Amino acid sequence: MKILVCEFNQESNSFNPDVSGMDTFEYYGICVGAEMFARLQGKPRAVAGMFDVIAQNGATAVPACSMYAQSGGRIDHSVLEWFLEKTAETIRRQGPVEGVLVSLHGATQTTACDDASGLILEVIRNRVGPDAVIAVSADLHANVTRKMVENADFICGFHTYPHTDYYETGVRAANLAMMRLKGKQNLHLVRVGIPMIVPANGYSTLEGPFAELMHFGQSLVSSNQLVDFSIFMMQPWLDVAEGASSVVTVSEDEKTAETHAVEMARRLVGLRDAFQPRMYSVDEVIALAEKPDTPKPVILVDSADSSNAGAAGDSIAVVARVLESGSRIRTAAVLTDAPAVKQAHILGVGQKAVFSLGGTRDPVHNRSIRVEATVKSLHDGTFTQEGPAGRGIVINVGLAAVLSIAGTIDIVVCHKVSGNGDPQLYRAFGIEPKFYDLVVVKACSSFKAAYRLFAGRICPTHTPGAAAADLLSLDYRKLPRSFYPFSPLDDYRITDIIHGRPGSARHDL
Ligand SMILES: [Zn+2]
Repeated sequence: MKILVCEFNQESNSFNPDVSGMDTFEYYGICVGAEMFARLQGKPRAVAGMFDVIAQNGATAVPACSMYAQSGGRIDHSVLEWFLEKTAETIRRQGPVEGVLVSLHGATQTTACDDASGLILEVIRNRVGPDAVIAVSADLHANVTRKMVENADFICGFHTYPHTDYYETGVRAANLAMMRLKGKQNLHLVRVGIPMIVPANGYSTLEGPFAELMHFGQSLVSSNQLVDFSIFMMQPWLDVAEGASSVVTVSEDEKTAETHAVEMARRLVGLRDAFQPRMYSVDEVIALAEKPDTPKPVILVDSADSSNAGAAGDSIAVVARVLESGSRIRTAAVLTDAPAVKQAHILGVGQKAVFSLGGTRDPVHNRSIRVEATVKSLHDGTFTQEGPAGRGIVINVGLAAVLSIAGTIDIVVCHKVSGNGDPQLYRAFGIEPKFYDLVVVKACSSFKAAYRLFAGRICPTHTPGAAAADLLSLDYRKLPRSFYPFSPLDDYRITDIIHGRPGSARHDL
């Protein structure tokens, strides 16, 4: 039995005008054919879980293509076409295949297609035919569309946020495919959609009501009422006409699958206001950092400019506000700003000049300031994450420099902010966060594991950016106005229910 394996993974932020091209994917990772085994096997990735299940079942894995990029703006459509061609070529040369396992993010938009994940599954379905089994592993922030459900047999989402179960989700998707391929026909998938988006820093599976809902789903699986379930919180910065948060269930009984999916979707809608995070203003956080009774450092969470959420990482708004306020608090910040890096490297260490900082990638949301700064140090931009999340992963932010303003503000300027949640993004560049009054962290929730070990306070803050937590501040053009938070959903009734594909009699063979 031959099972094709492929991956296309990028989370698109519709509000970041910086289009992600082939170079972005080359930077983070493209591998084709057998190279996928060498690069991905044994790694904490969905594809690795898929390979292991295929081997355990005595089937043959046919690796096609894996393309991965950090979250960012929409993808240049030619990148997706290249992936589809590589996948089609593998099917032509090594097919026919009985199954296909696909690792997707699930909230992916190109310059020509708002539902890249649906398109990928449709193209693959057309290539492999109606009897092949297609199973998908997706991010918890996926937008599970009708086209995805109509073309895939199974869709499994992460159970964790912050995400740690990439491998396990690949295993779940592969196991469902194997069950169907081995003749188990009574596996019914139901997807219930709800018109709701909430900022990503308003919930997690570590604690609180979202964690409780996830535990409820897990209890339905352990009591054998469901075979699998997923709760998808559509990433809120995806501006598409067909969008939804959703619950997907798989059960041996169709009615049971629907009943539990509707029940969980109803609970999810009921939590919409509880998912709104408590947010500070930048001035409030500066005032807290000024107070001698506040332990150092105060963490200003600038999630609106988090590249993990697809923003450009080029916002200088917090530093600008500290300067405007006349505050002398010691401040550490980080910035994507290639021109400033170049200027610093030309000047050399110890030299002073006027720099234009900020707004180099996303001038729609982020302005620039002109300020005198001293080049404190120069770097090649590579560091190893200290963790606990992602410990040991090597990050490269491109050529970098530390600029010092007024003797109190230190900024790591680099080609692309990455490894946002790890303190080494500062420490590797000679900035010890514990010595600063205010530390800017451009992440949604990934940073908490490391920073809560020493931070005095952690303050989610209203800042401008393509991933702003204040969703009403962003210019949505396509998402229907019937969506929460544009609409309160007070009289909302669940109607968006899609039933998955039935098993094929061919699989009884
Ligand atoms: Zn996610």
